[in-house]
Amino acid sequence: MTDRRVSKVFGAAPSHDGDGVALRRAFPGRDLMDLDPFLLLDHLGPTTLAPGEARGFPPHPHRGFETVTYLLDGVMEHRDSWGNHGTIRPGDVQWMTAGSGLVHSELPGETLVREGGTLHGFQLWVNLPKKDKMTAPRYQDTPAGSIPVVHNEAATVTAKVIAGEALGVQGVIETRIPILYLHLTLEPGARFEQEIPKTRNAFAYVIEGRGEFNDVAVREQEVVLFDRGGEGVRIANHGTGSLSLLLLAGEPIGQPVARYGPFVMNSKEELVQAVDDYQQGRMGVLA
Ligand code: FE
Repeated sequence: MTDRRVSKVFGAAPSHDGDGVALRRAFPGRDLMDLDPFLLLDHLGPTTLAPGEARGFPPHPHRGFETVTYLLDGVMEHRDSWGNHGTIRPGDVQWMTAGSGLVHSELPGETLVREGGTLHGFQLWVNLPKKDKMTAPRYQDTPAGSIPVVHNEAATVTAKVIAGEALGVQGVIETRIPILYLHLTLEPGARFEQEIPKTRNAFAYVIEGRGEFNDVAVREQEVVLFDRGGEGVRIANHGTGSLSLLLLAGEPIGQPVARYGPFVMNSKEELVQAVDDYQQGRMGVLA
């Protein structure tokens, strides 16, 4: 297996979104606009919130792609304009196919607002191919207990398989195009190797600790981009603390990307239509 080379390492930029949620945006930003099929990765917190301080994302629309919420700490309440609602707890994943469109809110749980606490999680945006952009909205609300967790033989590596396959174990979430989404934890001295087909774009985001990615040193809150010159991604933890990271890969869609805020289509005309549909209430209305 030939290694992929690390093509770039950069820090996620501190930012705010929604109703003042503190986050680090891995992309889009100065260093990277998107990585087909990935459109955005936000690292929410970890933020310690005083009572009354928790913020969220008040009603807003989406069309043309998928949003993937993965919480490590805290509780988020989700509601949409088609009557769907749910609670996302630590370790849970909500894989939402926005498709033709919806209006939703993502707000901190009542207890988190009242008593304060910690909010920590991720939101990833995955693009949809043209043929799926106007598909009916779909939720794959996946509780922590349904997400496969697998260890290496020495039990020094833990892989939560959110999508795709690692260490011979397949995730339970269905994706429209091949996607790998792993949350990996490496204890000091541990090594991990993942094969990712050459056709796919791949990157990693370090949540906590330091690691070597194909021999390049990377620190927490940094993004590592891999080239497509090989299949192998090798990760090692030569440090004294544990290393926690997300490893993502996806098959590029290779179609034009027209983007306007929460709408991601293939052409400007489709964006104009999306704005009109939203304003006319054709994505539903969230009271
Ligand atoms: Fe949203």
